[in-house]
Amino acid sequence: MSDASEFSGKCRTVPEIQVKIDSGEAVVLTAAEISEKVRAGEEVRFEDVDVVTTATRGIMSGTYAVLSFRVSEPDSFVRASEVLLNGVPAVPGPCPNERLGVLDLIVLGTAHSETDPRYGGGHLFRELVEGKSIRVDVTTSNGDSFTAYIPLAEMPFARLYSTRHAFKNYKAFVNPGKESLNTIFHALPFEGEFKEMTFCGCGELNPIENDPGLETIGIGTRVLLNGAEGFVTGSGTRSSPENPNLAGFADLHGMKPGYMGGFVTSGGPEIINTWAVPIPVLHPGMLENILKVDREIPLQLVDVAGRLPLCEISYGDVWDDTDFTVRYDPEKCLGCEPCPVEEACPMGAITRKGDRTVHNRHLCFNCGLCVSRCKGGAFVARLGSVSCTTGGCMREINITLRQSDRARAVKAAEELKKKVLSGKFRITEPVEKIRFL
Ligand code: SF4
Ligand code: SF4
Repeated sequence: MSDASEFSGKCRTVPEIQVKIDSGEAVVLTAAEISEKVRAGEEVRFEDVDVVTTATRGIMSGTYAVLSFRVSEPDSFVRASEVLLNGVPAVPGPCPNERLGVLDLIVLGTAHSETDPRYGGGHLFRELVEGKSIRVDVTTSNGDSFTAYIPLAEMPFARLYSTRHAFKNYKAFVNPGKESLNTIFHALPFEGEFKEMTFCGCGELNPIENDPGLETIGIGTRVLLNGAEGFVTGSGTRSSPENPNLAGFADLHGMKPGYMGGFVTSGGPEIINTWAVPIPVLHPGMLENILKVDREIPLQLVDVAGRLPLCEISYGDVWDDTDFTVRYDPEKCLGCEPCPVEEACPMGAITRKGDRTVHNRHLCFNCGLCVSRCKGGAFVARLGSVSCTTGGCMREINITLRQSDRARAVKAAEELKKKVLSGKFRITEPVEKIRFL
């Protein structure tokens, strides 16, 4: 890893970079723009870039929200003992708000509805951000129950927190066993005997891939979490110097629904989040990681059952020469009854309207599952395949599901770039470095 002291003659501070931004002289590039230059054989020098905007969008289970809002008149009940939000269980407290008619709630992003197996915390948070009123079923400590309908606009406090987001890199998965199995790493039962592969991670775009030593990302770093300004609070659970991740928070009121949501897996509903993080380039040594492209970033292919490593591949194997977005050609739809991709789509982005199948691009995660499951070939994207040699046998394994949405990660990094350049987003120095025990 590089050391800033090696480049003392050629260093910048975060305040110096912000002054340059304010005077319209700074060069801000997205991580995708930098990688394009590298692939084109262009030299990118320290002088050529002041800030790199990075991003990642994917399934991030380590998420919870804290919500506080009035649900009835003061003194109408003593305290809440059970609360369901659109059927999703919330934990009342920690503050009891005795006789105030106000609820404080903790809601896990991975909590599942008690009535709908395809609905969870991720869906709930997106619906709140979309402005929908949510159904609040309260059972009080006296055993009474009542229902209210509350939109986000009537929640003075609504924050999303991460316990583990934006892992530096994640894993790719196969099921070597004979039987298919249900898992959060597939939207359908994961087929056995190496028939398919799934993976997570945005590779060269990921914030920590661009700053793996956490030189500029620290406690207090300003970020965009689902499009809302938020802050890093430290590293998350299972974070390590080799494979760090981030904890942080942002206000739900400023979030954009297109960056978040629920994702239904065969192990139950999961939650999607999007991070965009500015990396100020403080010294030439930081370019070593910023200039890395997907094929230089390792990705471990593991057995989904026990996470036993099987092969070392790279993010180039899963993202190079692929289509980041999935296209739908209604002309090719055969009108199957039932439509298997409508049932399989983890986002509920495919619906039958009469004899027509409709693809909701706004909801679509570009996971690619419909490409292998559509009987008419109406959904199209190059998802690629990887070679893996295990037990003396070389296999070519088709990628059938991506649990990261690279297309929207690119968009999030572009949005952050625009905000930085316009002065709407200020780059902050961490108040403290993230340290590992
Ligand atoms: S599986 Fe494909 S071809 Fe058949 S109805 Fe669904 S979208 Fe149309
Ligand atoms: S790529 Fe296909 S299966 Fe995946 S979310 Fe979009 S429509 Fe659904």
